[in-house]
Amino acid sequence: MPLDSNAYAWMSAREIAAGVRARKFSAEDVAQAALARARALDPKLQAFVTVLDALALEQARAVDAAVAAGKDPGPLAGVPVAIKDNLCIRNTRTTCSSKILATYEPPYTATAVEKIVAAGGLTIGKTNLDEFAMGSSTENSAFAKTRNPWDATRVPGGSSGGSAVAVAAGIAPLALGSDTGGSIRQPAALCGVTGFKPTYGRVSRYGLVAFASSLDQIGPFARDARDAALLTAVISGQDPRDATSASLPVPEGLLDLPARADLKGVRLGIPKEYFIPGTDPEVAAAVQEAIGVLKGLGAETVEVSLPHSEYGIGVYYLVATAEASSNLARYDGVHYGHRTEKEVGMVEMYARSRAEGFGDEVKRRIMLGTYALSSGYYDAYYLKAQKVRALVKQDFEKAFERCDAIVSPTTPTPAFKIGEKTDDPLAMYLSDIFTISANLAAVPGLAIPCGFSAAGLPIGLQVMGKHFDEAGVLGIAAAYQAKTDHHARRPALG
Ligand code: GLN
Repeated sequence: MPLDSNAYAWMSAREIAAGVRARKFSAEDVAQAALARARALDPKLQAFVTVLDALALEQARAVDAAVAAGKDPGPLAGVPVAIKDNLCIRNTRTTCSSKILATYEPPYTATAVEKIVAAGGLTIGKTNLDEFAMGSSTENSAFAKTRNPWDATRVPGGSSGGSAVAVAAGIAPLALGSDTGGSIRQPAALCGVTGFKPTYGRVSRYGLVAFASSLDQIGPFARDARDAALLTAVISGQDPRDATSASLPVPEGLLDLPARADLKGVRLGIPKEYFIPGTDPEVAAAVQEAIGVLKGLGAETVEVSLPHSEYGIGVYYLVATAEASSNLARYDGVHYGHRTEKEVGMVEMYARSRAEGFGDEVKRRIMLGTYALSSGYYDAYYLKAQKVRALVKQDFEKAFERCDAIVSPTTPTPAFKIGEKTDDPLAMYLSDIFTISANLAAVPGLAIPCGFSAAGLPIGLQVMGKHFDEAGVLGIAAAYQAKTDHHARRPALG
């Protein structure tokens, strides 16, 4: 019996996989329901750059064949997963929402995506992002402005805005994003879903188009922490194709994270520098209320200090731009990517191809990064930033001597209006003030819904953990979600 796309919309990944295994519905039914929902909603929301009908149906039929043959279809059997369009899928357009890669079809697939397909997942489409993941609103996409499902006049956050919206709108229960300075957590907070950046090294970056290689990390979006844990378990693990992937075993229990009944014995650090004037009062109040709920579950709180977080944005915009200027040098119109049609000499051909292919924000970052790395300025900017980055990391090490996890707001405000910050890059950069330090320190960071503003916009709580303590962070979130229902509220989509 076909699966009604409204019935499908809010099913969890765990429910879908269980239903496919038990033959309540087929993976193909699920794929059809997801694709129907994408067709109905995406003209308005613009979450997808490319919907992959044929590929998802082919993957679904393979899952159904495995089920019919009595084989294990995998933990994501028939589960649609939306993929940020900076993750490569072989022979499938991968644009990074940039004109320079508008027709690029990579000859290989990202390890994280390969693992999803091997686990029975269906890659239903590639989602919109800020060009090369540079931005906090998805407005820097060269193709479309993704809308926030809670209020279509507002941004979904970014850079993984399309992935956050696909999950928030019930098009897919799971999505992949990448987080260099907050690009999973910030849009998760603004769209009212759960978003997780694992520890740097937990997930292979092979096949993720590089932005800032020492900060980039792939992670899941889901509608609850238990589904986020499931996808984290699937994509984690060492990969010979990414030398920075960690050789630690994937944490046990994430595939089916038990919902803890309480948080007795858990010490939560409250970083005083993250509770500052300037944060929207509704955000501050919702986060305080969430801390109250966590205490009610038995957690203890201790004040901690992360004094160098104040320099986080400054450090990030030196390190990330420096790495980006180097990573983006490869788009020269020769190796691959857009090439100018003007008949000019070689050097001018490079320059024109890049001038035509990159958008303003990407150009701004390349210029900043090239400047920070240039001789005479390297010591003053890049090297200094690396030293301050070490201090940010030390702050976390010290804080974690006194607590098991750190809680804070995810963003200083709920979703802002489309166009509100596009003329003011610095205001846009401040959207990540609470998320950037976790990337600099390489620790895991999670965003979960913890309330709504009076205007009905979602607010996010951030939980940061010790290196490789994915299970601890997700476990706290699962206990919180067992007690609250902010994550169960759905936008009215007409
Ligand atoms: N908003 C930040 C930036 O613009 C972070 C982006 C990200 O995490 N990819 O760089």
